[in-house]
Amino acid sequence: MRTQVGIIGAGPAGLLLSHLLHLRGIESVVLEMRSREQIESTIRAGVLEQGTMDTLTEAGVGARMKAEGALHHGFELAFEGKRRRIDLTELTGKAITVYAQHEVLKDLVAARVAADGTLFFGVKNTAIHGIDTDAPSISFEHDGEQHTLHCDYVIGCDGSQGVSRAAIPAALRQDYERVFPFGWFGILVEAPPSSDELIYARHDRGFALVSTRSPNVQRMYFQCDPKDSVDNWSDDRIWAEMHARVDSEEGHQVVEGKIFQKNIVGMRSFVSTTMQHGRLFLAGDAAHIVPPTGAKGLNLAVADVRVLTAALVAFYKENRTDLLDGYSETALRRIWRAEHFSYWMTCMMHRLDDATPFERRLQVAELEHVTTSRAAAMAMAENYVGAVAV
Ligand SMILES: Cc1cc2nc3c(=O)[nH]c(=O)nc-3n(C[C@H](O)[C@H](O)[C@H](O)COP(=O)(O)OP(=O)(O)OC[C@H]3O[C@@H](n4cnc5c(N)ncnc54)[C@H](O)[C@@H]3O)c2cc1C
Repeated sequence: MRTQVGIIGAGPAGLLLSHLLHLRGIESVVLEMRSREQIESTIRAGVLEQGTMDTLTEAGVGARMKAEGALHHGFELAFEGKRRRIDLTELTGKAITVYAQHEVLKDLVAARVAADGTLFFGVKNTAIHGIDTDAPSISFEHDGEQHTLHCDYVIGCDGSQGVSRAAIPAALRQDYERVFPFGWFGILVEAPPSSDELIYARHDRGFALVSTRSPNVQRMYFQCDPKDSVDNWSDDRIWAEMHARVDSEEGHQVVEGKIFQKNIVGMRSFVSTTMQHGRLFLAGDAAHIVPPTGAKGLNLAVADVRVLTAALVAFYKENRTDLLDGYSETALRRIWRAEHFSYWMTCMMHRLDDATPFERRLQVAELEHVTTSRAAAMAMAENYVGAVAV
């Protein structure tokens, strides 16, 4: 089997790359280890930056996002019993859309299928060969048969647990990591929204986030011990914790409902450099992870894909390799900006058990600053909507 670009992973990075290349007349094949049903039902990200919305729209897969996604022009910061709004649109001229990642994936898979794109779901034993040569390949098993996909380039879009990153020789890789000593307890709730916009709450008991999925389904998180078990948390205990952390002295309250999903995720920051070696390029979570506080993971995956698409188009249409050669350096500028923002927001909003009372007051002082200084609010808003110059 032969194609121009072999892509491992049908997450947002892999599917979007495949579709953007198709629109520019470049062939690709996507190999995914999970089933279509699994990728289309896994609940993950939900906040799309303006640039991500624009890219999806340009790719012709933005219609449902526009119709069903919720455009948010700001968000609220809750601390010390009060709520203060960051007006994204007034500060930056941009907005974000809340539209679930698995809905983005449904739109992308449908577009690939409609364009007769080649996708293999449920592949096993994916292995990358010959990235130091001009003729790399990917071997894999599908429906009990062994296959080899020959291609010009291999793109690793296989997330943090994939095989691609390890194909770059360890001696050439530098990994940077910070594991946070807390996690997020996530719930999905059948209820009307508690607020028109997202609420990020800092409380001495820990962080909480009130997000949304649709007019009837809400997504909420609260900081927890990453080793805790969902079995330790009855619905009553969860609601008591959410009320304690989010309700304001001005009378705003979290709206309760039927909890129909609970999960705990760990939190870490991670960057692996270089993101390329020979004929292999990494994009998205395969190369970097951010704690979800800044809502940057999916958006960074899309940003990598934009850079990589331009580089592959320059190679195939103009026979230029300069953009491919500079891919890692170009992508890493935005990645480190997002890593810093996500880390900053995480540290400002979460309870750090080893923090002194002095350091806890500093968190509150910083929140006072970003909600009263226009310059500080603008810096936060620019980072949140992804409008920073990098
Ligand atoms: C709880 C939570 C909330 C989040 N909230 C946000 C948010 O609000 N905004 C935001 O921008 N981001 C958010 N994120 C992060 C976001 O979900 C990820 O950054 C995003 O999924 C990265 O996309 P990706 O395509 O790089 O990787 P993935 O989505 O991980 O896709 C990788 C794909 O590769 C497949 N794969 C892996 N190994 C192999 C193999 N060997 N062979 C074949 N296929 C393989 C996997 O099955 C997977 O489908 C959140 C994440 C979590 C966990």
